[in-house]
Order: sequence, then C-alpha cells, then structure tokens
Amino acid sequence: MKPQDGYIQYIVNPKSGASSNNDLVREFKDYLTERGFEVRVKLTESLEHACGLATAGAVDYQCALVIGAGGDGTLREILHGLEGTNKLFMPIPSGTENLLANELGFDLHLQTLINAFEGDSIKPLDLGVINGQCFTSIAGFGFDGAVIDRISKIRTGHISHLSYFWPIWRTFWEHDFPRIKVIVDGQEIFNDRGMVFVGNISRYAIGLNICKEADFGDGLLDVCIFRCHDQAHLIAHALRVILKRHTKSKNAIYTQAKSIQITPAENTVYCQIDGDPGPELPADIKVIPQAIQILIPPGAKPAGLRTRLKRMIG
Ligand SMILES: [Mg+2]
Repeated sequence: MKPQDGYIQYIVNPKSGASSNNDLVREFKDYLTERGFEVRVKLTESLEHACGLATAGAVDYQCALVIGAGGDGTLREILHGLEGTNKLFMPIPSGTENLLANELGFDLHLQTLINAFEGDSIKPLDLGVINGQCFTSIAGFGFDGAVIDRISKIRTGHISHLSYFWPIWRTFWEHDFPRIKVIVDGQEIFNDRGMVFVGNISRYAIGLNICKEADFGDGLLDVCIFRCHDQAHLIAHALRVILKRHTKSKNAIYTQAKSIQITPAENTVYCQIDGDPGPELPADIKVIPQAIQILIPPGAKPAGLRTRLKRMIG
C-alpha cells in the first residue's frame, strides 16, 4: 500500500486494554505517519459509534484501509460496520483477551503490525450472525454465558483476567446446568443438560482450543457440545480441553454447520458472544461466508495456551 492510495481510518477504543497496549497503538500510528500515510484517528465513544466509524471509512472511496484498535467487542462492531463493503481491514490487539487478533496471528509487538501492513497477505474472514447480531469469534451457551452475565452486571470499564476469577468461582458453585436443545442444519443433535460453543475461530479464552478444527474462512461454523450435569462433569471437560482430548469424550459432540438453532429446554440459558452478553434465547445462528478481507502477518500462527499464559503473567 502506498500513501497515494488513500487515507487510513484509524479507529481506537481509548478505554480498552492496559496502558502498554496504548503505547502500541500510538507507535504504529507514528510509524504510518513517518512513512507518509494520512492517518485519521477516530476515538470510539460506544460500540455503536465504532460500527458507524467503520462504515464511514468503508463507504468513502478515498479511504484505503480501516484499522481498528480495541478488544474483541470493539473489533466485532467495526467488522459489523465493514460487512458487505469489501474495504480492507487490519486489527491492532488492545483488549484483555484479543481472541480474534490472536487467531489471525497478531501479537503485541510493533514489528508484527509492520509485517502485516507491509506483507500484502490478505485473508477472507467469515462472520457469524446470531439473531441478527454479528459475532467474529465464539458464542457460548450455558456456563460461560452465565459467567459473562455475572461480570456484565458488575463491570465498570476495562477488565483484566483477574476480574473473571470471582464470577467464575461463584457461577461454578451456583450454576444449574440447564437443558439445551441444539438443531444443526435442520437436524436435532442434542437435547440434554450441558454447554454449547459455536466458533468461527479455534481458540477461546487463554488460548483454549475448544473449536479446534475451526477455520475462519471456510464458510462454516464449528459446534462443540458438552453433556454436563454437574461440577464434576465440568471439571472433567475442562481438563480434557487443556489436554486437547475433549472431542474424543463420549460426552462431547463436535460438528460443523451453516445454520444452528439453540433453544433452552426448561430454565434460562445465558449466552455470550465474543466475551460480551449475547441476545436472549432461542438463538438462530447463521454464517456470512468471507464477509471481510483482512490484512494478516504473513506466515503467523495463533498463540496457544502456554504462550497466552506467559503473556498474562507478564
Ligand atoms: Mg469456519
């Protein structure tokens, strides 16, 4: 890309992430400016605003590239705003978890951003849609939905990994493991107590490889279902996920699909999408194949559990 191709819409969520991430956002902007690019920095005021800023760049022919700096929630809304426009996008990871950016091979190094920008490696990204709302990474139903619901009720701004500890602990002891019905491409494949994950990407929080076969550009969503009646089942599933043996369990179902319906069969089932509270159920989920064109670091691979834990510890 050359400066004469157009300006760069540089969308930044000023509230996301730690201050070290803000340094990365500033350093990459300085790098672009020094190379002669016109960088139009736009600070987001809300998720809807992030979506609007992305659309404004996408429909302007003088805009050559949209860059988005934020966590998974901000990136989701930016991609929602770009969907259907064909405008090239590049993420800067600056949230707590950065599931999507991590899957695309980004990390917190300036050199990785420069490699992506200069590399001309462009990949298509599918988007998931749940009850009309976009998601980029993973939708979870049951236990993790209940955890996110609990966090959202106490959250007052930026959260760290530690913010998850007490909500997970409390939910672990109080969760009632409600019955969930799952229909995949028109066929009922599950109706029992458990948890369901629908993934566009393979890695979940802290790099756990739950939707392990997921390819973000293949036009399909991966579905991983755990039959889970109590805390002991949950711990067993969690250990199998860490050991990457979860899909071999007789209490797990793994498949891929274009359309998925998820219905609570008795009590309330909570849902999370990309780490934020999701819509009320029943959920009707579809995929928009190759909705976004993304600049990624050439040859980069997503970081796994060990690397993610090292980064978290610092
Ligand atoms: Mg896929």
